[in-house]
Amino acid sequence: MTASLLLGSHMSIAGGVYRAIERGESIGCTTMQIFVKNNNQWKGVPLKDEDVLTYKERKAKSSIGPVMAHDTYLINLCATNPEILRKSRETLREELDRCERLGVDFLNFHPGSHLGQGEEEGIKRIAESIDLLHEQTRGYRVKSVLETTAGQGTSIGYRFEQLRAIIDLVEERDRMAVCVDTCHIFAAGYDIVTEEGYERTFAEFDAVIGLGRLAAFHMNDSKREFGSRIDRHEHIGKGKIGTQGFAHLMNDPRFVAVPKILETDKGEDLREDVENMRVLRSLIRESRN
Ligand code: MN
Ligand code: MN
Ligand code: ZN
Repeated sequence: MTASLLLGSHMSIAGGVYRAIERGESIGCTTMQIFVKNNNQWKGVPLKDEDVLTYKERKAKSSIGPVMAHDTYLINLCATNPEILRKSRETLREELDRCERLGVDFLNFHPGSHLGQGEEEGIKRIAESIDLLHEQTRGYRVKSVLETTAGQGTSIGYRFEQLRAIIDLVEERDRMAVCVDTCHIFAAGYDIVTEEGYERTFAEFDAVIGLGRLAAFHMNDSKREFGSRIDRHEHIGKGKIGTQGFAHLMNDPRFVAVPKILETDKGEDLREDVENMRVLRSLIRESRN
């Protein structure tokens, strides 16, 4: 039963994008997340054909299934400063190109922070940004994935309705998907700990967004309390979600084929990833069929 489990973590691309595959494989990942360029600069070092080829060769021979990319932290698709908005769109465009070249399945990005213009305006501008990017990248296979947020500051995406509203405004809706970050939705006030809360949260997700749009989970426990709207990741089982919340998810037959990816702190030796993945696997009840 665990053979088909898609479990992994965010892997560093230091030394070349293909190195993420090696790192992921070394700890038994069957899925992973990467940055496709330096994550805290607007411009990336160009990706060489050779890098792309090596990555694809290694990937094809590896145990790694679906791969998700996470966008650069500077990007804000509803920035009020025109220069920042332009750079945000340009950078995300570059990331879409890189994902397409590498054959990365999903590009996950934060919807945006409205910075005082209001949520409704922010949502409109985000959809405009996405439409523009989609127009520039017609026919790309990589999915545009909106990440649920904790609702920290003026960030949009802490309610499923906000993600729905963005998707509804986008022209090419078949390119849109959603990533549920467990820490973020818990901090945003969606209970996933109690049995009843967990069922309600995903019934709501299904009603508002539709489970068919769920591309992946970010598996992070939360340092901060339920509804705090503060985004602080904790190791699995060590935070306010605890093993109980993750047990619901790991045993939910609806999510067997949905990639589950850690974004928790770790050192070079990936020891923490190994431990977090072990804890998650240990929660699977073998009686499931
Ligand atoms: Mn994120
Ligand atoms: Mn996340
Ligand atoms: Zn986070």
